[in-house]
Amino acid sequence: MPTTTFPLRVSKLATRVALPAIALVAAASTACVRVPSPLTPLVAGSVGMPHRGVLTEGAELAKSGDGFALLRDNDRGYGLPRFVHAIERAAAIVAAVRPGGTLVIGDLSAQNGGSIMPHFSHRNGRDADLVFFAMTLEGVPIPSPGFLHYGADGLAWDETEHRYLRFDVEREWILVKSLLEDDQARVQWMFISRTAEAMLLEWASARGEPAETIAHAHDVMAQPQPGGEHDDHIHVRTACSVDDMVHGCETNGPTRPWLAISATPRLDAAGVDELVLALLQPLDAVNAPSPLPSAAAAPTPIAAR
Ligand SMILES: [Zn+2]
Repeated sequence: MPTTTFPLRVSKLATRVALPAIALVAAASTACVRVPSPLTPLVAGSVGMPHRGVLTEGAELAKSGDGFALLRDNDRGYGLPRFVHAIERAAAIVAAVRPGGTLVIGDLSAQNGGSIMPHFSHRNGRDADLVFFAMTLEGVPIPSPGFLHYGADGLAWDETEHRYLRFDVEREWILVKSLLEDDQARVQWMFISRTAEAMLLEWASARGEPAETIAHAHDVMAQPQPGGEHDDHIHVRTACSVDDMVHGCETNGPTRPWLAISATPRLDAAGVDELVLALLQPLDAVNAPSPLPSAAAAPTPIAAR
């Protein structure tokens, strides 16, 4: 009788159950200890929530780089490293696909996080203000001079230069798409005005962009209430990863089903059935083919989205 097969089989299956459980327990255990200190070495990175949290070991955006520039040099360019680098990658993609534009970036977080005025959030390295791409009425891309309010006609008045500027919907969509399709960006929210959202989704649909990406954009885009209309920039927020949660990142708001819970495969209903079946089977029956479809073969919500 192959007595060793059963523990091995259960072990493999149980691991798929145990990893998320361990992560959640670890996350829960850190949830009440949200202050990084030498006594809490596990608490690090993006700690707490965007509106009551801190940041350690953040990465700092350069003052300028491939396709982007900071709006202000005010030491508020810190964020979760994976998030900061995802923004850099997205800016570089826009510059490569449609050269000539500049992604102007407002505040992320302070080096150690915490409150920065006038923001309600931006406290733990998960938020970034990305100023809309701008171009002249003639279609020449220019770095946006600041937070300009775009109307439903896609135009904004630039008080400094006494001119109208156009919302550069093409580059803005490439930016949105790049962030949404970047596994490390883990976009939970894109706060943006309904008008700008409509322009972006309309443009993407007309261009035949991937339906899945458009659907995700529709889901994550929202005009915050309260928090300003966001007719001048996208406020993008990254969701905690499991690794972030283990180190003190607290989730709030919706879970986006298409974001992989990295390193912990989702155990869908078929997977649970398979585990239960394995536990109930007599020892000499575990080598028989399972009558149930395997978890890997079964369609999952992630694959479907
Ligand atoms: Zn913001």
